[in-house]
Amino acid sequence: MVQGVGFRPFVYRIASNLGIKGTIENRNDGVIIEMEGNDSLVEVFVSTIKKDAPPASAIDSVEIEIIGKKIRFDDFSIIKSTNISDSITEISPDIAVCDDCLADMTLQPHRISYPFINCTNCGPRFSIIRDLPYDRSKTTMDNFVMCETCHHEYTDVADRRFHAQPVACNNCGPMYSIHYKETITNNHAEVLQLANGLLNNGKIVAIKGMGGYFIACDAANEDAVIRLRKQKKRDAKPFAVMFCDIKTLKKYTVVSDAEEKLICSWRRPIVLLEQTTPLATSVNYQLDKLGAFLPYMPFHYQLFASSKLEALVMTSGNISDEPIIIDDAPALEKLSSIADAVITYNRDIYNRCDDSVAFVSNGKTQLIRRSRGYVPAQINLPFDVDSIFATGAELKNTFCLGKNNKAIISQHIGDLKNAETLDFFAESAERFKKLFRCQPRTIISDLHPDYLSTKYARESGLRHIQVQHHHAHIASCMAENGINEKVIGVSLDGVGLGTDGAVWGGEFLVCDYTSFERSSHFNYVPMPGGDKASKEPWRMAVAYLYHYFGKDFLKLDIPFIKNLELQKTKLLMQAIDSKINTPLTSSCGRLFDAVAAICGICEKQIYEAQAAMQFESMIAENCSEFYSFESISTLSFENTIKDIVRDVQLFVPLEIIAARFHNTLVAAIVETVLKISKQHNINIVALSGGCFQNRYLLEHTVDALSRKQLKVMIHEKVPANDGGVSLGQLTIASFLIKGKK
Ligand code: ZN
Ligand code: ZN
Ligand code: FE
Repeated sequence: MVQGVGFRPFVYRIASNLGIKGTIENRNDGVIIEMEGNDSLVEVFVSTIKKDAPPASAIDSVEIEIIGKKIRFDDFSIIKSTNISDSITEISPDIAVCDDCLADMTLQPHRISYPFINCTNCGPRFSIIRDLPYDRSKTTMDNFVMCETCHHEYTDVADRRFHAQPVACNNCGPMYSIHYKETITNNHAEVLQLANGLLNNGKIVAIKGMGGYFIACDAANEDAVIRLRKQKKRDAKPFAVMFCDIKTLKKYTVVSDAEEKLICSWRRPIVLLEQTTPLATSVNYQLDKLGAFLPYMPFHYQLFASSKLEALVMTSGNISDEPIIIDDAPALEKLSSIADAVITYNRDIYNRCDDSVAFVSNGKTQLIRRSRGYVPAQINLPFDVDSIFATGAELKNTFCLGKNNKAIISQHIGDLKNAETLDFFAESAERFKKLFRCQPRTIISDLHPDYLSTKYARESGLRHIQVQHHHAHIASCMAENGINEKVIGVSLDGVGLGTDGAVWGGEFLVCDYTSFERSSHFNYVPMPGGDKASKEPWRMAVAYLYHYFGKDFLKLDIPFIKNLELQKTKLLMQAIDSKINTPLTSSCGRLFDAVAAICGICEKQIYEAQAAMQFESMIAENCSEFYSFESISTLSFENTIKDIVRDVQLFVPLEIIAARFHNTLVAAIVETVLKISKQHNINIVALSGGCFQNRYLLEHTVDALSRKQLKVMIHEKVPANDGGVSLGQLTIASFLIKGKK
C-alpha cells in the first residue's frame, strides 16, 4: 500500500538525508526506486524504508536488483507516474489524524486550531474519494481552492503535505458549523463552546464524523444516556464510548499491550475491553465488556480538550436499522429529533463508512466489523479471483469484488432487510466496480431464494452461482490464511440455509473450495416462529425442553417455566407439533439462546446475540467442568440440557453453569473434530462463524485443538461473523469457475 499514504515523499526525504541520488516512481505493481550510492549507504537506505515506512503504508516485499555501475543521476527526484493504468487501484482507508498534525495545530499560523488539518500520513481517504487516480479533483475536496500557502506545501517535495490531496487550512478549507435551535454558528471557537456546554449539561449532540454522522452524549451521565436510548429507540444494545485519551481509558478498563497497540493505531477501531470502573450504567448494562475507542479526527481532540468530559457515547447517526446518515440535509432533518444540536461541516462524505469494531484474542486482532480504517484495503490471495462479485450474507452484509488475485471487501453495509440498506448496497457496489475498474462476469449469492442479495444477483443478468452459507464461512477463513487443501471446518453461528432446507448453524464440514461434506452437526431441534426465535430466546428454550422432556417439561421446577405465559407456550407447542412456521435448526446461536433463557437470562433479546453475550460475560474463572453430551453421527446436547435444568433446580450459581456450558461446547467440538480427523486423515481445522466471536469459546477451542496436535486456523483479516462471508463466496466461486473451464 503505497498510494496516498505519503510513501514517495517519505522515500524522497530519506534519500535526501543520506545524499542518495536516483528516482522514485509509482507503477502498477508498486513503487520502483532507482538509486546510486555505495553499498553501506544502500543498506541503510533499504533498512530505513522497511523500518520507518509511513504508518498507513504496507510493504509486501522489497526486491533488489543491481542494474549497473554507471553514474546517471544528479539528484533524487519523484517521477510523475507515466503508466498509471486501470491496474493501479490501491486506495488507502481513512487515517486518524497524526501527532505531527496535532502539534501543527498549535504551531502553524495558518492552521491554529484548524479542525481539518491533515498530511500525507493522515486524514480522510476512502470516505472522500470519488474516482482514481487519487487526486484532489476526484475527491469531495474538489470545490475548495488551495490558498497560496497550502499550494506551496502541496508542491514542495520536502514538505509533509507534498501531494496530500485534502490539504487545507483556516484560510481555504472546510469548516464546521453548529445548528442549535433556530441558529447556525460558524465561528469555530463558538461551535466548540456551544457543543461543550450542551454535552456537559447532559444534552445530546449529533456530530458529522469521517464516514457518517454520529450522536454523542456524556458517557458518565446516566440521564443523558437513558434519554439517548429513548430518542434513538435503542433499548439495550451496548453503546461505544470514545475516551479523551489512553490514560483516561485505562482508568475505566483493563488494556493489554496488544489492545493498546490496536486502539492507538491509525485505524482507531472500537475495541472491546474489560471494564473495571463504571460509566453510566445504561451504556452497556449487564456486560463486562465496553466498546472503547480514541479520538481520530482533530475535532474530537478539540471537543475533549475544551471540556471536562472524559468519555462520550458515540453511536451511529441513523434511524433504526437504516444505514448511517452521511448527507447534511437528512442529518439536519432526521437527527434533530434525536439530538439537541447538530454539528456539521461543509465537505461531503462520499463513501459511507461506519466505525470498525474489534477485540484482541491471544494477542491477535479479531474483527467484528471491518469498516473505517480497514476498507478498502485489499486482501491478497494466492489464487486468481478476477471478475467475480460476491453479494455476501444477509446480516452484517459486506460484498466482495475480485480483481486479479485480490479480494476487495466493501465497508460494513448492514442487515440487508430493508430498501434503504439495499440502496446503500447497490450504490456501493456500483462505486466499487467503477473505483476498482472491475466489471464482474459472475455474481454469487447465498442459497436462500428470498434474500434481497439473491434477488439482486438473479436480476443482474450475470452468471449466478449460489453458495451455502457455512461453506462460505469456512472458505473465508481458509482464503485469508492462504490455504488450499481439504480442511475440517467448524462453522458455528446463528442461521444459514442448509442444502436440506433446514436452518444450519452448528456445522462440521470436511471441505475444500469446490465442495463440502457435512460430517456432523448439532442435532436438529424445532425453531418455532422461524426468525422470531432469534429475537425471543424463550421460544428456543421451550423448543429444547419440549424436545427433550416431552409435555412434562411444563412441570419442571425452575423459574423459567414458572414465568412462562401458559397461553403463548401452548400455542408454541402446537406450532411445533403441527410444524407450522417451525423449521428444524442445528444452530449453535439458538442453543446459546435456549440455555441462557433456561437459566433465566434474557428471555427476550433486543439485539442479536444479546443472550449469548450476557451469558459469556458471566463465566466463572477457573472452572473446567463440563456437562455430558453425545457425539455420534451428530452432536446431541440432550444430556447437557437436562444437566443444566438440574443445576438450575439445585441453585448452582449462574457463573458456574455458564462456565460448564461453554466448556461443554469446547469439549464437544474437540471430540467431534478428532473423530472426523481420524476418519478423513485431515489435521487442519478452520474455525468460523459468529459464535467464535465469543472470546472464551474461541480461545478455549483453539487451545484444546492445538493440544491435540491439530493445526488451527482462525480469522484475523476479516470478521468470523457474517461480515466475512462475502470473501468465502468469492473464493468458492473462483474455484468452481476454474473447475468448469
Ligand atoms: Zn498528519
Ligand atoms: Zn490553505
Ligand atoms: Fe453466519
